[in-house]
Amino acid sequence: MEQHVLVRFYHEIALKGGNRPWFLRQMAKNLKRALTGTGVSGIKRDSMMATFKLKSEDQWPLVKERLEHVIGVERFSRAYRVDPTIEAIQEAVPAMLEGHNPKSFRVTARRTDKRFPMTSPEINQRLGDQIKSATGWPVDLKNPDFNLQVQTTGNDALLTTEELRGPGGMPVGVGGHVAMLLSGGIDSPVAAYQMIRRGCKVTFIHFHSFPLVEGTSKEKAADLVELLNQYQQDSLLLMVPFAAVQQRIIVTVPPAYRVTIYRRFMLRIAQALALKHGAGALVTGDSLGQVSSQTLENMTTIGAVADKLPLFRPLLAMDKQEIIDKARPLGTYPISIIPDQDCCSLFVPKHPVTKSRIVDVEKMEEELPVDEMVQEALAEVEEHTYHWPSSEASARVAEEAPTV
Ligand code: ATP
Ligand code: MG
Repeated sequence: MEQHVLVRFYHEIALKGGNRPWFLRQMAKNLKRALTGTGVSGIKRDSMMATFKLKSEDQWPLVKERLEHVIGVERFSRAYRVDPTIEAIQEAVPAMLEGHNPKSFRVTARRTDKRFPMTSPEINQRLGDQIKSATGWPVDLKNPDFNLQVQTTGNDALLTTEELRGPGGMPVGVGGHVAMLLSGGIDSPVAAYQMIRRGCKVTFIHFHSFPLVEGTSKEKAADLVELLNQYQQDSLLLMVPFAAVQQRIIVTVPPAYRVTIYRRFMLRIAQALALKHGAGALVTGDSLGQVSSQTLENMTTIGAVADKLPLFRPLLAMDKQEIIDKARPLGTYPISIIPDQDCCSLFVPKHPVTKSRIVDVEKMEEELPVDEMVQEALAEVEEHTYHWPSSEASARVAEEAPTV
């Protein structure tokens, strides 16, 4: 029997009316790109799913790893292909049962092509009877130990027994382009992933105080982008040196207001970079009340400088534990907790102001050459690009898992 892989797309893609063909095209494009270097070819799209042939068993581990990172993949499985007739399906059933000895089972048939001459319940009944008389396994429709799934399409019947979860979400590229302020902390990488999962292309901006502090936060940001890039395939990370801005701020701004003013500068610089790179919004990992810079008053004072683009805070109403619960499976958590010196902890007191007012802060900024400071920082920005699957990774993989 031929081995195929069956990929089911995120249910929400189907709900998008006139945009649906575009979303599915983007989905297919991202899927194809993710499979680069695996030796897989001939991906066929059929409504809300895609199928392709596995040339050999060896391809599966890499294909599986890649599919786990494709946004828009809801579930996927390895499937055996036979001709779309009940006789051919029944003939394949014994091979599907091999090596299994479950406490209970069920059959779940689906027809994407209604020309198949039996209904889904009829297929379930026929195969259920066949399996029961061959094995004696009891049927359990609600909570089966073993589920034989049969899908009939125009030209194929696909049989599968294990289904794996993909990340779900809307295909990257259909949600627009946003600029993410990425610290080395726990929250912002999770916020970035939430946006990617809504179909956004995310450009990353990281502010660092190197050489006033060591370069750990830069390395963390780079590692986080490399990890997150597996979900969006191409990324740009903009590293902004922030020490010079901070050194000017501390000369005139009282300690309690420094974090607020640092943040306003970050946002001004981020907005300029977002506009330069064509992003339509700014995103932060703020969560209401988590730290002093995230009180309602301080978020208002800080957010006020984003006057040309909307500022989104996808984690606003989540608490730290909920965010950590997302960071762990994503894999960002171990990177985020590596100790570093956050640039905003430089030259600031233990208790910064929690209820700042825009008028006061604007008055303090009158002492500063704001535009000049922004322009100076922009002139020093370093650009790093990331691509996934990388050509090296694909080459390494091709060596490890030769295709037949
Ligand atoms: P995080 O875990 O994302 O660092 P946090 O709880 O430490 O969040 P803050 O440090 O106050 O909170 O940062 C709030 C948001 O401001 C971050 O989520 C991020 O979007 C942005 N931010 C903070 N520091 C930086 C930085 N050095 N570079 C880029 N963005 C930053
Ligand atoms: Mg932080």
